[in-house]
Parts: sequence; structure tokens; C-alpha cells
Amino acid sequence: MTILEANNIFKVYGEFNGERETVALNNINLLINRGDFVAIMGPSGSGKTTLLNILSGIDQPTSGEVTIGGENLNEMKSDALAHFRRKQLGFVFQDFNLLDSLTVKENIMLPMILEKKNLTEMEEKIHELASLFEIKSILNKYPYHISGGQQQRTAVSRALVNEPQIIFADEPTGNLDSKSSTAIMECFERIVDKMSTTVLLVTHDVFAASYCQKVIFIRDGAVHSSISKTTNRNAF
Ligand code: ADP
Ligand code: ADP
Repeated sequence: MTILEANNIFKVYGEFNGERETVALNNINLLINRGDFVAIMGPSGSGKTTLLNILSGIDQPTSGEVTIGGENLNEMKSDALAHFRRKQLGFVFQDFNLLDSLTVKENIMLPMILEKKNLTEMEEKIHELASLFEIKSILNKYPYHISGGQQQRTAVSRALVNEPQIIFADEPTGNLDSKSSTAIMECFERIVDKMSTTVLLVTHDVFAASYCQKVIFIRDGAVHSSISKTTNRNAF
């Protein structure tokens, strides 16, 4: 079942500081199915972040359309889009984006509070995710007292609390050592397997991409090629 469809996406950035206009995305077409685990790779400046931002409704394309779960993002009014993003999409960033004034538990709770979930429901969800991602022992700590790997697992938990249809992750392993990168990719693998969540990430990290079922390569703002795994990673 298709969860995300991008049709004829163009993004042109205007002239700036004497620089000529940039065609950052040049006719991108994508189909992502529910439960897909996809990496977008490409050289620096190839348009990866621009594409992720457009697919997730953070940015608008110059032309073209993105639909998620049959809803056209580009036809939504800004508050409807904000609501849709909060309810249906989860975000993970390179620099974790946790709030330093809140504990791990409070960071994870925040999106549920915004959705007015009741306390029992929140406690159950936190318990489930903390077990899954092995962060139970740090729930009452503050972000600056835990490791980068723990911060990213907290960020993934936070992205998942409202059970989004898709998780978008921009360089999720970019600030992590290899051991923590492995742990975070295994977390994504677990949520794809257990919850059929769709995960779409942008990465430079070939090792991170090796966990994905599909890798889409973009160059100069266009899809250059893609590869799909036909066998289990452990079969090699
Ligand atoms: P990547 O994530 O692959 O490094 P980006 O999506 O960041 O690529 O950038 C694609 C192209 O668009 C680059 O040429 C970049 O300089 C340009 N670009 C990105 N953001 C802006 C912006 N806000 N204004 C102007 N040009 C931009
Ligand atoms: P894991 O959960 O597999 O231990 P982490 O990402 O939590 O992975 O930790 C990565 C590395 O950072 C480990 O070697 C761990 O010992 C170390 N580490 C864990 N917590 C902290 C911390 N608060 N400050 C500095 N280093 C830490």
C-alpha cells in the first residue's frame, strides 16, 4: 500500500547575494509503501535535505505534489498542515533537538501532551518505548547527562509516541560513533518490523544505509538510481 507519493517535484531557490538561482530538485518522482525502510543518499549539495523537507511538509516545492496517506500536503492550509505533521509524522534530527530543560521522560511526553492524551495512556506508551529502546534507566535524567546514543534513542522515542505513519530522519547517525549508530539503526529496524512504521532517512553514512531495504541515490536534484534488498542482511 502506498503511503507517500511525490509527483514531479521541482524546487528552485531564487537569486541570493549575487548567486544565480539554484535548481535544487529537478523532477523527483517517488513511491514509498507502508512499512518501507528507505535511505536517500547522494553527494553534498545534491538536494537530500531539500527533498526530505518537502516530503515532510516542512518546505513547499516550487511545483509538484506530495501526498501522504492520500492527503495532498500542498493543498492543506498551514494550520491543517501543522496539525497533520504533529499527528501523522515523526521527525529525528542529526543534533537530536531535545529540550535541555526537560528530562528524558518529559521530552518523550511532550508530543502526547500537545495531543491531550491522558496520563495512563502516556505512562503506558513511555514504558513500552523505553523498554524497546533500552532507555528505562535514564528517564529522569536531563539530555546533557546522557550520551549521544541515548539522546538519539530518546529522540526516536519522542518521534514515535503519537504513532506516526512515517518517521523522517535527517542524518540520524551524523553525530554518533559507530556503536551508537548501530544501536540507532537497530531501533529503526525494530519499529519497521514491530509497528510497520515507515522510515525514510537521509544519510551520508553507507553503514547506516546498509540497514535499509531500499536506497535511493540522488545527484544534482534528480533520482540517479536505486537499489532494493532482496535478501536479509544477515544472509550475506
Ligand atoms: P544536500 O542535503 O544533499 O547537501 P541541500 O538540499 O541542502 O543538499 O541543497 C541542494 C542545493 O540547494 C544546494 O546547491 C544548496 O546550495 C541549495 N540550497 C539549499 N538550501 C537553500 C536555500 N535556503 N537558499 C538557496 N539555496 C539553497
Ligand atoms: P550503549 O547504550 O550501547 O552503551 P551509548 O550511546 O549509550 O551506547 O553510549 C556510547 C558510548 O558512550 C559508550 O561507550 C558509553 O559507555 C559512553 N557513555 C554512555 N553514557 C555516557 C555519558 N553520560 N557521558 C559520556 N559517555 C557516555
